[in-house]
Amino acid sequence: MSEDKQTRKFEAEVSQLLDLMIHSMYKNREVFLRELISNASDAIDKLRFEALSDEELFEGQTDLRIDIEFDEEDNTVVVRDTGIGMSRQEVADNIGTIARSGTREFLEKLKSGQENDAELIGQFGIGFYSAFIVADKVVLRTRRAGQEEGVRWESDGKGEYEISTVERQERGTEIVLHLREDAEEFLDGDRIERVVRRYSDHISFPIYLHEPGEDDEGPRQINEASALWTRPRSEIDDEEYVNFYRHVTKGFDEPLTWVHSKVEGRLKFSLLFYVPGERPLDLAGPHPTEGAGGVKLYVKKVFILDDAEMFLPRYLRFIRGVVDADDLPLNVSREMLQDNRVVAAIRKTATKRALQMLEELSEDQDDYQKFWSTFGPILKEGIVEDPGRKQEVASLCRFASTAMDSSQQTVSLDEYVERMKDGQEAIYYITADSYEAAVASPHLEIFAREGIEVLVMTDTVDEWVSSHLSEYDEIPVKSVDRATPDVDGDDEQEETDELNEEWSDVIERVESALGGSVQQVRMSKRLTESPACLVREQWQMGERMKRMMEQAGQQVPTGTPTMELNPDHPLVARLRDIDDEQLEEWSKLFFDQARLSEGAVLEAPAVFVRRLNRLMGQLSGEPNDDAD
Ligand code: ADP
Ligand code: MG
Repeated sequence: MSEDKQTRKFEAEVSQLLDLMIHSMYKNREVFLRELISNASDAIDKLRFEALSDEELFEGQTDLRIDIEFDEEDNTVVVRDTGIGMSRQEVADNIGTIARSGTREFLEKLKSGQENDAELIGQFGIGFYSAFIVADKVVLRTRRAGQEEGVRWESDGKGEYEISTVERQERGTEIVLHLREDAEEFLDGDRIERVVRRYSDHISFPIYLHEPGEDDEGPRQINEASALWTRPRSEIDDEEYVNFYRHVTKGFDEPLTWVHSKVEGRLKFSLLFYVPGERPLDLAGPHPTEGAGGVKLYVKKVFILDDAEMFLPRYLRFIRGVVDADDLPLNVSREMLQDNRVVAAIRKTATKRALQMLEELSEDQDDYQKFWSTFGPILKEGIVEDPGRKQEVASLCRFASTAMDSSQQTVSLDEYVERMKDGQEAIYYITADSYEAAVASPHLEIFAREGIEVLVMTDTVDEWVSSHLSEYDEIPVKSVDRATPDVDGDDEQEETDELNEEWSDVIERVESALGGSVQQVRMSKRLTESPACLVREQWQMGERMKRMMEQAGQQVPTGTPTMELNPDHPLVARLRDIDDEQLEEWSKLFFDQARLSEGAVLEAPAVFVRRLNRLMGQLSGEPNDDAD
């Protein structure tokens, strides 16, 4: 017995995950084969890749294959590969820990019990541990290519594993599953073959099945063994596409859609892109500095890189899949790819194809809604990031709207444009923290009165995105606090001028009461219910944007807004009859209210509250509080 034998505990998360998996995957347990084969295939990919720069790693054995054996007497199923193998350190790092990001978050979700376990596990991907769905003991033997020593790992999946250094001739990994009593159905060649054909046909290396007692014929190959993306589309059915997706993403979900295309022009390459059905756990938030995303890069069918983010723009980083390029050298490195002519050309076509795929997906309302609610905030970034495709990206965007009954229903810009009223000269939108906050905004009062639809934007990125979309389809796009709807034509302006003339005295007094807080005060017909609101120049930053910038630690000059008053409001009407001291109080109240309704955080809320109480007291005839 070797001296370096160690018994170690699984990470707490692994034990938890194992437990959950064994119980929730019962109905689907044949997937263990898919997971082990998928790992074997990855390991061969890695060997082939590393051998590009060090041929010695083949050790003279270039037969790259996966073998499956079973033994009815021992109750075992064995999966073996001639891939890269693992060193002792790698076994300890990869098997027995969960390195994948999002594990904790995933377990939290599971524990909260809101969602269906099986589905969630699917979303997470279970990998190697799926062996324990069917086995009560798993023995793994492996030797890393180019290394002397082999490693043996064994566990019953109950919290501990044993690891030791052993002698091993063969390069690669062998996994022996000691089947649970109720999993003996897998001691059956036909059953194994069906499962492999079903889930792993797309694997690009041959998978051989060894039937006991069939020695003379030898093992038979039970998969197609050609890279899926190299086969003609017409010969691949949906199930194969879905299975390949799961291999690439290590997930269980169904993709929403995919595009498969072979380009044979000046450049030769294939691509197979998927839109995931669920948000991948390793896909970071919409913030532009998070999460790489990307597809797998192959060169002439040889795997080169995971997460090759240079083939698609960042706003498409939710897309998963494969690019196989004929025109890149096999020894290409990540660094070389960053600034490469071939990559740039592929990226252009890839982006086009990906956007077309989304365009096609948008023809199905339900699927697109699902897509939009999962990835919309990321796709939207394209309006900022990709000036050349701004219009195209904008047409794929969806927005909540005042024309819809709820925040759940969304509209496209094209639908909006189709509904525009005669004489309406712009597409209007409002940004706010929530749909409820938006629709209660004083800015919308005139739009409601005129029956003009307003798009409602409530994502964090919207402030930023909307400031980059100044027109769509040659129609100006305007924020409601930077524009008045101009459906009624020129008379409007004249009326407003008259109104301001009539109120000039009050206007002057309010302006001097507010000092530098406002650019200007004017009367407007924008409001029906609120006494006041703030409006801005096109370049000025709204309260919400300002707050976001401040939260990000940036101090930016925002420009002073203009305050508009509602001449028909009784509290505004009172301004004519009160003295300067009182007028200052009311002016400040209106100003703060207007800011609040835009989502501002007041610098001194208590001052506002005291003032409000004081003024309410006066209105109801109670004795005055001291003015401050
Ligand atoms: P994933 O495949 O999502 O990384 P798994 O649980 O399936 O997760 O596998 C964990 C890790 O163990 C793999 O990333 C790989 O590093 C290693 N591994 C698993 N099976 C093999 C194998 N047959 N050969 C070499 N490495 C393997
Ligand atoms: Mg795996």
